[in-house]
Amino acid sequence: MEQPLLNRSVMIVLQPSSLKESLKLLNENPDAEVIANASDLWPRIRNGEVKPKKLLDISGLVNELSYVKKDGNLIKIGALVTVSQLEGESFVNEKRFSAFKDVIAKFGSPQIRNVATVGGNVCAASSSEDFIPVLLAFNAKVRLSSVDGDRYVNLEKFITGKRKINRRPNEILTEISFEDPGEGYISAFEKVGRRNILIINLVNMAVVGKIKDGKIEDVRIAANRIKGKIPERAKNTEDFLKGKTLNDDTVARAKKVLSEEISLTDDFRASANYRKALLLAMLERLLFKLGGEQ
Ligand SMILES: Cc1cc2nc3c(=O)[nH]c(=O)nc-3n(C[C@H](O)[C@H](O)[C@H](O)COP(=O)(O)OP(=O)(O)OC[C@H]3O[C@@H](n4cnc5c(N)ncnc54)[C@H](O)[C@@H]3O)c2cc1C
Repeated sequence: MEQPLLNRSVMIVLQPSSLKESLKLLNENPDAEVIANASDLWPRIRNGEVKPKKLLDISGLVNELSYVKKDGNLIKIGALVTVSQLEGESFVNEKRFSAFKDVIAKFGSPQIRNVATVGGNVCAASSSEDFIPVLLAFNAKVRLSSVDGDRYVNLEKFITGKRKINRRPNEILTEISFEDPGEGYISAFEKVGRRNILIINLVNMAVVGKIKDGKIEDVRIAANRIKGKIPERAKNTEDFLKGKTLNDDTVARAKKVLSEEISLTDDFRASANYRKALLLAMLERLLFKLGGEQ
């Protein structure tokens, strides 16, 4: 039997040409699904996982939402910044932002990197999204804009469940921002999948921290799965590590704390035990990277 190419009936696509117009249209059509460059949403529409009747296509708003800028101590990334665009930004070459470079290096394929947006990554809100742990480890905030104005939400509070975000129906995510942690900080990210390109991660992890005189002055750890199926911070492990000397014994004890903090379940891609073993190995490597080891 022939399968329809697109598992949908009629779909209305609203294509505003400015943010102001987008917010007005979304206010009038709160049932519309916001769509950026569609690398996540379109495959889900095609396979029938979601069946929106209306789309609000914001991909044309590059003049307004496609910037990376430093404002005081804040780094601000417009929602439509693509992975390729981010790769060309000088900040990602600084050691304290290496985690972004690590994400970019293993992100999809060149074609996907040219379209995948940072805003879309965050709003997709699943364990497959690689920027989320990095942004969590940088304590990022999102700006949500609507006809009523802007509101800011910590990323940690924005992602409330698998594919569930704290977004009101008339809001568009317009910006992601985080503080530059300053000199002396290092960050790194790792992901493991079942192949070396177009990697759908089994697990990923990001670490941001500062080691001073051999001691862990600050550390923030986030992974795509800690307790559930959404990216989260490993706060018990962070608390354990703060103030400790970074050495083999500390790392071994931190792995024990993390193994108690993690609670995972099996799925068709990997068992919980395998994912846990990967996360523990990643923690060890990433902590030693903070200490300057490659
Ligand atoms: C082959 C392939 C490989 C991939 N590889 C990777 C990978 O290595 N790492 C990774 O992290 N991801 C990967 N992805 C997933 C996807 O590319 C990313 O999540 C991407 O960043 C999504 O951006 P987008 O602009 O395409 O989002 P879209 O698909 O347009 O939207 C994604 C979701 O966010 C919502 N949304 C988008 N923008 C906004 C906004 N501004 N405000 C409110 N809601 C919004 C949409 O409603 C939708 O639910 C891959 C996808 C494919 C198809």
